[in-house]
Amino acid sequence: MYDHAETGNLTQLLQNIGIGLDEYLKFEHEDAQTRVAQWQKQLDIPLPQKGIGIEAMTNELVNHVIANGSSQINPGASAYITTGAVTAATLAMTASSVASPQRYLLTAFNFLEELSLEWLAEMLGIPNFKGVYSSGGSVANLVALGGAKQWAFEQIGHDAAADGINRQTCIYASAECHHTIQHSAGILGLGRNSVQIIECDAQGRMKPEMLENAILKNKEQGILPIAIVANLGTTNTGAIDPIMALGKIAQKHKIWYHIDGAYGLPGILDERLNNLYKGIELADSIIVDPHKWLGASVGVAATFVKDRDILLRAFTQEPADYLEGSVEQDDQASPKIEHSMDSFGIPYFDYGVELSSPCRGVVVWAMLKEIGVDGMRARIKRHNDMASYIANFAKNHPNLELLQEPTLSICCFRYSLTPLI
Ligand SMILES: *Cc1c(COP(=O)(O)O)cnc(C)c1O
Repeated sequence: MYDHAETGNLTQLLQNIGIGLDEYLKFEHEDAQTRVAQWQKQLDIPLPQKGIGIEAMTNELVNHVIANGSSQINPGASAYITTGAVTAATLAMTASSVASPQRYLLTAFNFLEELSLEWLAEMLGIPNFKGVYSSGGSVANLVALGGAKQWAFEQIGHDAAADGINRQTCIYASAECHHTIQHSAGILGLGRNSVQIIECDAQGRMKPEMLENAILKNKEQGILPIAIVANLGTTNTGAIDPIMALGKIAQKHKIWYHIDGAYGLPGILDERLNNLYKGIELADSIIVDPHKWLGASVGVAATFVKDRDILLRAFTQEPADYLEGSVEQDDQASPKIEHSMDSFGIPYFDYGVELSSPCRGVVVWAMLKEIGVDGMRARIKRHNDMASYIANFAKNHPNLELLQEPTLSICCFRYSLTPLI
């Protein structure tokens, strides 16, 4: 099964891939679409009955697949919210795919899963939160709102994870929220239409007074509130909702407070923006996508909650017969533990939707080991400075119209054929 072990030539093969990738990253090639007919002809073959072997496959990978990869990682490409992985992330992802394919079992990779979540929480100003990784902001929001749903129903004495829902519910989010909020509401059985859209101001920030009105109206109608969702950096413009004001409304009405910081939470590292992040400690759940602003390889997101036991009650997998008695469930101090396969370690699979899952903590660990918090901070500030530079540039350019003053590293502007000034 593990043919690396049999052939022992991983060094050579990875070197070939490395040479192909270094070549690709010079960006001396044209975009993949300019040669689409050629490479599709090469790749579009019937299901192979006989293999060509590892060396020939590697050559094809380098010459026809890598060579026609994405332009999103071009250093000049700044128009998309996910980027390419930094080198440390690539190395860590590759290493874990070989040495620890799963995040569970008592390996060093499993250890880094929790350690890196603690590092992230500390770096991002939420030191008392516990986390769980998932594949992206979509799933991270789903997990957080799954926790919110469980909590809200428990307040009325109902176990929604076990018995389903028995009430009409609503989630409050702004007109600028990411559509994964509606998506999550659909998956969680609350219904996409249960997301009540609250109006924003001209800067794309939720209006607290409109939220308060909506809450009072729903209360009269007996609708169960599941969560208030605040944006910490909208995907459209990087706007940040009034985090403190919304958090206080959530506290006053005893509603779960979720903050979607998929893109924007790392902005807290720029101390010039500290005021905008005041109140994040009021959150019950908050998400971040290391695969956006922190430069992780795609597939790394984290949900943070104050109380991880709520996720356990929302997402627990019932015990499986085939594992009966074979591993300790959660007690790493047990004297029976002598081997890395004697325990699953922290049961992350009970805190979210994935059982099999790659190790993601090692990616975050590797990035932070390489450049530290100082390096991350320098990068975040540089990106924010770039956005203000572009905003100023657009303001002074006859054919460019600045559409919104940037809050973070997103700058929205428009090109006009006829001069505007
Ligand atoms: C990107 C984004 C998401 C979705 O994250 P994925 O990693 O693409 O699944 C959710 N919320 C916000 C604010 C985002 O920017």
